[in-house]
Amino acid sequence: MMEEEVGNIIHVMPISLANKIAAGEVVQRPASVVKELVENALDAGADSIVLRLQEAGSVLVQVEDNGCGMTPEDARICFTRHATSKIQTVEDLERIHTLGFRGEALASIASVAQVELITGQSVEAASRKIRIDGGETVEDSPYAPQRGTTISVRNLFFNVPARRNFLKRPQTELKHILDMIQVLALSHPEVSFRVEQDKNVLIDVVKSSSDDAWTALKDRATSLTPISRDESFIEVDESTSYLSVRGLLGSPDTARRTRGLQFLFVNGRHVKHLYVEHAVLSAFEYLLSEGSYPFFVLFLDIDPRHVDVNVHPTKSEVKFDDERGVYGMLRAVVRRALGMALQTPNLSQATPVRGLDLGLGSSLELGSHASKLNRPSYTSEPSAMWVADATHALLRGAVTVAAPHADREAGKAGGTGEEGLLWQLHDTYILTQIRSGLVIIDQQAAHERILYEKASSCLEEGFGLSQQLLFPRKMDLSAADFALLKDLVPDLKRLGFDVDLHPSNSVTVKGVPADITTGDERSVLDEIIDQYRLNERIEHLTGRENLARAMARRGAVRAGNKMSPREMRALIDQLFECQSPYASPEGRPTMITLSGEELRERFEKR
Ligand code: ADP
Ligand code: MG
Repeated sequence: MMEEEVGNIIHVMPISLANKIAAGEVVQRPASVVKELVENALDAGADSIVLRLQEAGSVLVQVEDNGCGMTPEDARICFTRHATSKIQTVEDLERIHTLGFRGEALASIASVAQVELITGQSVEAASRKIRIDGGETVEDSPYAPQRGTTISVRNLFFNVPARRNFLKRPQTELKHILDMIQVLALSHPEVSFRVEQDKNVLIDVVKSSSDDAWTALKDRATSLTPISRDESFIEVDESTSYLSVRGLLGSPDTARRTRGLQFLFVNGRHVKHLYVEHAVLSAFEYLLSEGSYPFFVLFLDIDPRHVDVNVHPTKSEVKFDDERGVYGMLRAVVRRALGMALQTPNLSQATPVRGLDLGLGSSLELGSHASKLNRPSYTSEPSAMWVADATHALLRGAVTVAAPHADREAGKAGGTGEEGLLWQLHDTYILTQIRSGLVIIDQQAAHERILYEKASSCLEEGFGLSQQLLFPRKMDLSAADFALLKDLVPDLKRLGFDVDLHPSNSVTVKGVPADITTGDERSVLDEIIDQYRLNERIEHLTGRENLARAMARRGAVRAGNKMSPREMRALIDQLFECQSPYASPEGRPTMITLSGEELRERFEKR
């Protein structure tokens, strides 16, 4: 006799159930519905969007747009999971320019609410009305021709009581919705937005009448934030081949006690990215008092191949393939914009920045921030190692982001005081924690990279600051060295050397670059020449590159030198401001990263 077969227990779940489960990811609360519907309207090219709410969206979320609308057939299919008009192939994923692309939103929403869709493409063509209750189509009928789409979502989670009970107080849900609209409206000044609840108008911003994108953005920013028009905005507009950054910064005096006015968009999508946001904050560092945050709205554009927007169904998280690169660039860009804006007389009159010295010799009056504004200019403090005057936010940022409580423990753990987690190993390597793991930095290689880039830019731009020697030094050179020196004089001047050549193969050194101060300033020139000679053996080295490398070699802190936490932090900070932070001028690595994953693997954890 055959043994009785036990029934198979695995079966594919009904689509309606699958959608309902998926909805848990996409639709958390009324604000998620608002986001999906408004994004669809924007993707449809609408320039006017009206949102109507009842009871903070839990009874009704209705979005009406004047976008392209749908054909009757598309109207039926748009509620099917993975139905989208926005991508077709895997390659499309890499060039997404719409806000949606997963084709999940409408299916998810329709499975947990009572949805009514009215849509049409023009006043001539047939429109359609479709009603779906908890995923079941209950009406599909012709409708009076119109252009645009109105979707009404009623009684969200009516069929998922656990979820419905989980909703917060109406005020809270409403706040989430308004925050969402704020973000969407800020990134779309060319679209009018109106939000109504029970006949009250909560938001009404009209699309800009100006053709000028900057004016439009400023108008939008003033109408959506507490910042008023006569307060200054600082424009940011820069691109590199990797990244472009556009947007507005609030001037330092518009800073608030909360982070609520920080808006970051990547390829048009609003994202939360603490690490990258911190890049902006740290650029402001000296301009803000502790615990105050600047307004900013910044649009980052980056080749979609370098950014993964697909990490989260609601797409508020992104991953860059070079986070630190983005951090460094963004910070440099913001700094430059601030530096420029705060130097122009117009703005500094409108927004006096007290105690600001951007290190360019323009000391303004000192005010309440004076004690924090201890950034010496290169000329005024030539004895300090030049890295020591730098800002030092990168690490503080990395530490704060990685381990909010680390700062407090750092004193115990690493003996580095309150400054953060930093260790110097064998007086040669700097160890520190970043979000993804452990970084080990070779202090000399890193410093050489910094000095090299600095020298290179002085050679390009000729802005090397000079410190005059109290006792000019006259020295005799060999004929060969003298000949070499003669060739190098113009470039040496660019670096900040001040030398007089005499016919008798001798030279008087009257000044040296302000930041080359470790050791005896008077021997700097000899050492540079020696190093230059050594470097001549390297093939394909141009004279300037050689000189920059010689400067770097001469000035860099050596292995075996103790560094203070402040110096270490400044070093790392400046390293990440470099264009190529990862390698020394000779091409040796400046740092090694051990990821958390690698550590886990080595310890054979799973
Ligand atoms: P996605 O936006 O990811 O494509 P959705 O489920 O949000 O997925 O929408 C499915 C499709 O329905 C969209 O790709 C679009 O073609 C269509 N659609 C949704 N909303 C609108 C709208 N307001 N106007 C025009 N078409 C829309
Ligand atoms: Mg969508």
